[in-house]
Amino acid sequence: MNGDPGLRHEELGASWRKARPRPAGRHLDSASCSRQSHRTLEAVAHHARHEAELGGYVAEVAADDLLQQGRSVIGGLAGMAAADVAFVESAQAALVALLTGWRLPAGARVACLPGEYAPNIAQLRAYGLRPEPLPADGVGRVDLEGVERVLASDPPSFVHLTQIPSHRGLLQPAAEVAALCRAAGVPLVVDAAQSLAHADVDLGADVVYGTSRKWLAGPRGVGVLCVRPALAAQLTPVLPERDDVPPMRAFESGEAHVAGRVGLVVAVGEHLAAGPDRVRERLASIGRTTRALLDGVGGWRVVEPLDEPTATTTLRPPDGVDVVGVRGRLLAEHGIVVSAIGPERAPGEMTGPVLRVSPHLDVALDDLEALAAAL
Ligand SMILES: *Cc1c(COP(=O)(O)O)cnc(C)c1O
Repeated sequence: MNGDPGLRHEELGASWRKARPRPAGRHLDSASCSRQSHRTLEAVAHHARHEAELGGYVAEVAADDLLQQGRSVIGGLAGMAAADVAFVESAQAALVALLTGWRLPAGARVACLPGEYAPNIAQLRAYGLRPEPLPADGVGRVDLEGVERVLASDPPSFVHLTQIPSHRGLLQPAAEVAALCRAAGVPLVVDAAQSLAHADVDLGADVVYGTSRKWLAGPRGVGVLCVRPALAAQLTPVLPERDDVPPMRAFESGEAHVAGRVGLVVAVGEHLAAGPDRVRERLASIGRTTRALLDGVGGWRVVEPLDEPTATTTLRPPDGVDVVGVRGRLLAEHGIVVSAIGPERAPGEMTGPVLRVSPHLDVALDDLEALAAAL
């Protein structure tokens, strides 16, 4: 790119804005939770109404085809098939379902980056697994040669990679890691909570899991777990499924927010209709523009490389400035929604708190300028 190409695909921003309720302020927080569209909200309400009219279990059967289409489309995003996809309640729930089924022996080693999401590390430990660091560079990007060395000399039970971290707008070279893992015969599990509908998640990984409410802009309380058949065959669910149902279905909880799953399917459909490539291009241009505008403002410093192809920007505060307090004042006094991320989110990498700015497709230059002025 030469210089700052500005915000790309403005028509996507306009249609995304028009498709959903008008925000009360300036919503720049999609890495926490996006704004759902009218159609998604209506689909969720419609299913809930169906439950009241038909009975919850009858309504669920009536939604079966739609849910199966959803598994197919979500699987397609990850380069997998409908049978490889299970609806779960969140990204965390997906990891729990995977580890529950995998039944790795206590002490089994799992390689992940020093900047791994702390709740994931805690979950691995809760299952008796031993997280071990993969080599990374100064911004936290995985060192591919280092990975190759680890895989050759001392292969772990699996590699766990968060494709875009929650505390930094960095896009990891996940497809390259997947190729190395495949060559070494080590399974790769990708946390796509921040990358689903933000970056390409068709990576050749063995597992891709994520959540509905972030960049896909679906309802809260829904997530997805996608597992390739070869690994799925090694999983033992708590209760097996009937023989006529794909084995991954055993990882869907029987009692679930079915209306939320319906909403997720509608949201995924909207993502496909917008064009995942164009969505990614616009989101990357939003990140570049945001960083160019905010780096240095009021002494705040952008953490990730300025041209990183993600929409997430994180800012280190000037000396003595309290990030939680600033986040609160931005909301209360300026109506700007952003997040304060403390170092406990990724203690292996973060040295202090950051302010996270994560606008979706509808952001206008005016929103970013208002944030810059407020800072
Ligand atoms: C948000 C997030 C999660 C957890 O997602 P939930 O749906 O809240 O369980 C996991 N990993 C990363 C990187 C996240 O940003």
